[in-house]
Amino acid sequence: MEVDAFFSQPKNTDEILNCVRNAKINNLQICPFGAPIASSNVATITKQIILDLTKLDNIIEFDWNKSEIVVQPGTRISTILRLVLPLNLTLTSITGFMKNTVVGNISNDVNGKDSWKYGNFSENVISMKVILSSGEEREISRENDPHLFNAICGGLGLLVIIKEIKLKLKPIASYYVDASTRKCVNLEEQLNYFEAITEEKSDFAHSWIDPFTSSNQFGRGLFLEARYSEIKHESNRKEVQKFLTPRTHILGIRNDTFWKITRQLYYFPVHYLATRAKYHKPIISPNRRMPLTKFQSPLNDKFPNWYRIYLPKGFREFQFLFPVNIFPEAFNALLLFCRKNGIAPIVSGIRKHKKQDTLLSFHGDGYSLLLNFGLSNFSDEKIKWLHEHLVEICLKYNGKIYLGKFPFISPDAFKELFPRHSEFIEIKKQLDPENMFWSDAASSFLKGLV
Ligand SMILES: Cc1cc2nc3c(=O)[nH]c(=O)nc-3n(C[C@H](O)[C@H](O)[C@H](O)COP(=O)(O)OP(=O)(O)OC[C@H]3O[C@@H](n4cnc5c(N)ncnc54)[C@H](O)[C@@H]3O)c2cc1C
Repeated sequence: MEVDAFFSQPKNTDEILNCVRNAKINNLQICPFGAPIASSNVATITKQIILDLTKLDNIIEFDWNKSEIVVQPGTRISTILRLVLPLNLTLTSITGFMKNTVVGNISNDVNGKDSWKYGNFSENVISMKVILSSGEEREISRENDPHLFNAICGGLGLLVIIKEIKLKLKPIASYYVDASTRKCVNLEEQLNYFEAITEEKSDFAHSWIDPFTSSNQFGRGLFLEARYSEIKHESNRKEVQKFLTPRTHILGIRNDTFWKITRQLYYFPVHYLATRAKYHKPIISPNRRMPLTKFQSPLNDKFPNWYRIYLPKGFREFQFLFPVNIFPEAFNALLLFCRKNGIAPIVSGIRKHKKQDTLLSFHGDGYSLLLNFGLSNFSDEKIKWLHEHLVEICLKYNGKIYLGKFPFISPDAFKELFPRHSEFIEIKKQLDPENMFWSDAASSFLKGLV
């Protein structure tokens, strides 16, 4: 996503405060970004200051005995895992993208394949040092200020700038997982598997769905489950390093060139055949022991930067969450809508979630459906129309939208989809009355509300 903006790239955390002071003097707004991997405009701001934290990718302190780590805001998940995985420690609820930053994961409160058990990423956070728009610095934890903590996690960088984070790490027996894949003929079978998982026996569970089935087979796909292996594994730093280093070549061709060629060839029949093959011969989702990193993102592992297939126009990604009893009906309505409108996702799947206290993050007792689609085949009007109708379906079935992935909603829809919006708005008015912390996304969904 390209925007015309001022760029500030601090080399240490003190320079973040300088940026806040300069913004105040010059009456400018700030939008911080981490990686930025978000497929939306939550980390951009036009004609104002983009605070690029990519240089702040350092571990400040690591306490092995307490399983705690203190990091700078732009620290990549891969930077942490490189250090801690060989020591049989990990983070929970990470995504398939190891390049994500810790702040990005907190501000979007990302969900993973294990969020049904451990909650979203914010559950890893012990405390955060933050900078307010006034320049004041505070240390926030769940204990000393639960309300603000729950607003910042999932708050899309609109309340404070996070400058340092203390995380707790989860001890594991091995950085390998024992994974299993089961074919499901329809949604009912998928949900039966989800209902049968238990916290004692599983750590990860998610499903992939085939978008090309007839309506009586909607939900057909693969159910994938895994648990941290209990078989002791000789920790090997070199091996972890290898797992966390993305391939530079795919099928012997340089990554960039591979996607340039594939983009020209990946027409509907190819996508259809690849999907069929994935269901009938699930070679990238097998039943075996595998490194955690591979289970987290089998697609990215085999085909790094797969989303480049959607260039130059990019893609839209939605994740909709519905209560358990409503999910099957909402799922059918969404899939029918996609079928009628030529949306054939490359990645689509179901995840199970858990309720938390955070104000805007994507959580609740229910299931989510993930859908994405390339924008190249659609005109701008059609994209707008698709957005409106997908949001309408979500509202009709009492659902929730993952705001970080899809912030293209009106203030009215925001109010309806996020029942705790008024608490968030109240905190925003108190902490940042001049809207110094802002983004292009906020200009639409918060318009007129703050
Ligand atoms: C292909 C793909 C797959 C994905 N899979 C998943 C998934 O499985 N689960 C999931 O939950 N998400 C997923 N996402 C979304 C992605 O993980 C999130 O958008 C994540 O936040 C990106 O991290 P980042 O470091 O790039 O953050 P950025 O995009 O840089 O920023 C995210 C937010 O954090 C804010 N922010 C940045 N720095 C600070 C700071 N210092 N203080 C306060 N706020 C700050 C930004 O303003 C922005 O609002 C996926 C995205 C893509 C493109």
